[in-house]
Amino acid sequence: MKNIIIFGAPGSGKGTYSAEIAERYGMGHISTGDVLRGEIKNETELGKIAKSYIDQGQLIPDELMIDILAKTYDSLPAGKGVIFDGFPRTIAQAEALKKMLEERGDELGMMIELIVSEDVLMMRLLRRAQIEGRADDNEETIRKRFAVYHSQTEPLSKWFAAEGIRHTFDWGICKTKEGMLEAIFQEIEKQNA
Ligand code: AMP
Repeated sequence: MKNIIIFGAPGSGKGTYSAEIAERYGMGHISTGDVLRGEIKNETELGKIAKSYIDQGQLIPDELMIDILAKTYDSLPAGKGVIFDGFPRTIAQAEALKKMLEERGDELGMMIELIVSEDVLMMRLLRRAQIEGRADDNEETIRKRFAVYHSQTEPLSKWFAAEGIRHTFDWGICKTKEGMLEAIFQEIEKQNA
């Protein structure tokens, strides 16, 4: 399977759709947010650094993040395809990912962008705060994460378009999780045919 980069604002469903795709096609799944939350839970040195950024709604510095990503990628079984969930979030990370994959004889594959309006995102994140109790899902931090997304991450959408691998899926058109999944699965199968 081709690698997949799943892309979208906080609350757009990257984790949910990644898990569904990984299960259906037997692919590896790297969620950088989950990796960092694991480090925080285990109270590692990296976890301490990560917490100070995550609690502020800020991004972890690129160099550190790229290093974590490469280590996680190399720990997965080769040849099945990997879903990158929450990475890259900056142009520097995207360029580093492309280079890292090329060095390993692999390529970016396809990018899936989830488009969801900000009202829906805020509603989902506040609901997730009640269910999962994530420390960064409070209204103030959510607003900061949206601002960081718009300034640092969103420009990447065009970067992927220029690579010729961007595929967009709009919640406003698909309307349900099932509708989104069906459209995403169809595109993945088309790209792997
Ligand atoms: P997520 O679970 O993907 O929403 O990530 C939660 C938080 O982890 C983000 O708000 C960032 O602080 C941090 N984080 C996750 N992935 C990255 C990344 N690729 N680059 C920088 N920071 C990240």
